[in-house]
Amino acid sequence: MSGGERLYPWLEAARERMIGLQRLLTSVPALAPENRGEGEARKAEALGAWLEEAGLGPVRNYPSSDPRVPGGERPNLMVRLPGPGGDVVPGHAGVGHAGPGNAGPVREAGPGHEAGPVREAGPVREAGPVRETGVAHETGPGGDHASGAASRPAAGRSFWVMSHLDVVPPGDPAKWESDPYQLVERGGRLYGRGTEDNQQGMVSSIFALLALKEAGVIPPRDVKLLFVGDEEVGSTHGIQALLRDHAGLFGKGDTFLVPDGGRPDGSMIEVAEKSLLWLRFTVQGRQVHASMPHLGVNAFLAGSDLVVRLGRGLPEAFPERDPIFEPPFSTFCPTKKEANVPNVNTIPGLDVFCLDSRILPSRPVDEVLGEIDRICRAVESDHGVRVSREILQRNSSVPTRGDCPLVLGLKKAVQKVYGVPAEVMGIGGGTVGAYLRNAGYDTAIWCTLDETAHMPNEYCVVNNMVNDAKVMLELMLAGV
Ligand SMILES: [Zn+2]
Repeated sequence: MSGGERLYPWLEAARERMIGLQRLLTSVPALAPENRGEGEARKAEALGAWLEEAGLGPVRNYPSSDPRVPGGERPNLMVRLPGPGGDVVPGHAGVGHAGPGNAGPVREAGPGHEAGPVREAGPVREAGPVRETGVAHETGPGGDHASGAASRPAAGRSFWVMSHLDVVPPGDPAKWESDPYQLVERGGRLYGRGTEDNQQGMVSSIFALLALKEAGVIPPRDVKLLFVGDEEVGSTHGIQALLRDHAGLFGKGDTFLVPDGGRPDGSMIEVAEKSLLWLRFTVQGRQVHASMPHLGVNAFLAGSDLVVRLGRGLPEAFPERDPIFEPPFSTFCPTKKEANVPNVNTIPGLDVFCLDSRILPSRPVDEVLGEIDRICRAVESDHGVRVSREILQRNSSVPTRGDCPLVLGLKKAVQKVYGVPAEVMGIGGGTVGAYLRNAGYDTAIWCTLDETAHMPNEYCVVNNMVNDAKVMLELMLAGV
């Protein structure tokens, strides 16, 4: 089959089931402990049970240990539809084998406790050793999965769709027109916390996979859906934990679609981000009475000079432009300023401020730091102060090429389903895409949405959810 058109009617007919899954997911809050929540375990359990029931099992869980939540673990779930011969789950050597009888998601132990017994936690309803289930087509009962895996190369390339289970808090309840945790369908929209961010992408991916599964289609390469936790608060227990503790889950050449950002007409594909660099500068002079300035060193004056030199000098030193970004150049913005002395007649001996920089990926962050240090040394010698800098946050990622098969396939699918040419773009930084790209995987962030994430009265447009599923179906069939 060249395209997915023949499965479009199935997806259209699945509209009510998709809404039903949205309703279920919305009803289970999944807040990080940072947001005074209990994590994603309950939502993962509900989703896992739904997926098993729908026939997409076995659901595998790769939890990350987090003592702050009940059960002590943050779930990361995965389901897959094997491509031709590509049904080995990599990274599972040494894991025991078992027959049927498991109800919940199969728990996958991390490298640190692979040999030990499985602990009861979160969505896991498993008592025995870690088990593989539902893979009767792989090796028979009693077969040695470990040697099976070793005798074959790791599974071929996989196409992943990654969405996240967690949500952000509803915020001021007075700003909501309905209960944030009870789905309300009105005017073709589904209102509720999480409906857009990120359940829309999650549900689209699930139904695209289900359409293939029910039609008995074997995709050209493995298709895997990943439902991660902890995305809203930094992904420490989500994709970062998976890349660190379960690196064998991913194979060279794997590609990722992250349906968690886009435009209302589906025309934006995000493939790159600027490097993010947050710095705090501390300028130390000598505090004296303002009537005797010659006895002191005015840290505020020196700090102000430093701010101006950074604000003007850095854009001059790094003038490159790249039209895929908006704005198309690196930005260097002095932002936070800490209070100094409380009274007017004291010359401050200390000045502290912050700089937010977003740097085009074509320039190494170390080069920028080198230029910043050169400016700091000049201010030190001109003012007689001491300047130190502290890195508050630093991350950069390799861009995904706009002409890689994933992006080209996505453009084609968007054109086909939505009738619009999609633009390949970069953004200001700070998405989960960076972790995947830095691990070597082509990653596109795309979906169709009105950008109501994190807002009161967040909603998902039902047509977007259905049509995005068609785009995902095309990608699954294209083997991107
Ligand atoms: Zn999100």
